Amino acid sequence: MKQYIIVFLILVSCVQKSSIVKIISEPKESLPFLNLSKSQLLGQINYKNDSLFVLVNKNIANKEIYLNRVAYDSFVEMYKQAKKDSIHLKILSGLRNFEDQKNIWIRKWNSLGHLDSISKALKILEYSSMPGTSRHHWGTEVDLNSLNNSYFESGKGEKEYNWLCSNACKYGFYQPYTNKKYRTGYNEEKWHWSFLPLSKLYLNEYNKSIKIEDIKGFKGALTSIKLKIISDYVNGIDAELLIN
Ligand SMILES: [Zn+2]
Repeated sequence: MKQYIIVFLILVSCVQKSSIVKIISEPKESLPFLNLSKSQLLGQINYKNDSLFVLVNKNIANKEIYLNRVAYDSFVEMYKQAKKDSIHLKILSGLRNFEDQKNIWIRKWNSLGHLDSISKALKILEYSSMPGTSRHHWGTEVDLNSLNNSYFESGKGEKEYNWLCSNACKYGFYQPYTNKKYRTGYNEEKWHWSFLPLSKLYLNEYNKSIKIEDIKGFKGALTSIKLKIISDYVNGIDAELLIN
């Protein structure tokens, strides 16, 4: 039932965005999905055997991709409207658990053999998260259409990006990694969109429960301290996505 309440809450226009912020900022007793364990926040989950998550239809994704069920339902509504407007959205990446992110991190780490640890981490962190710190762990994030910003700067890609900027918020989706000057952390990612009604709750819980010493279990994990990975990266998002 609570899932339906969330779906209802996001079916508001961009103009009413402030009401979403207000609603999801209410005391936690009134909100669903807030009894999140540290394992859930850190992505230490087996999403294929968890009813919270659902396999994305293969027509919408380019491979086997899972998402949070509520985020996915809203994405499908957005997908349908985009299609009516001649915009085709394809999910390139969705839920990635700790192990998935660790595999990405280690592959990149090992490819940067000549650099010191901090330089390696900084290079990877231009576009990829440390395991345990990715918003993709929550099943609330999608990477769409292309993993290159330049794709979205002309032609078909520019039309798709403009459509998302004008319409995604109607379905609860926002771009966390924008080009705003005040942001810290990752570079701009025009392809990454977050289902804010849920991701906001996850971030709120993350900030309450997760400490820097919880970021561990992979090569280079200690760089998380010097690089202020929680304050500068996990929270280095567009101000629209932060709880005021
Ligand atoms: Zn992403």
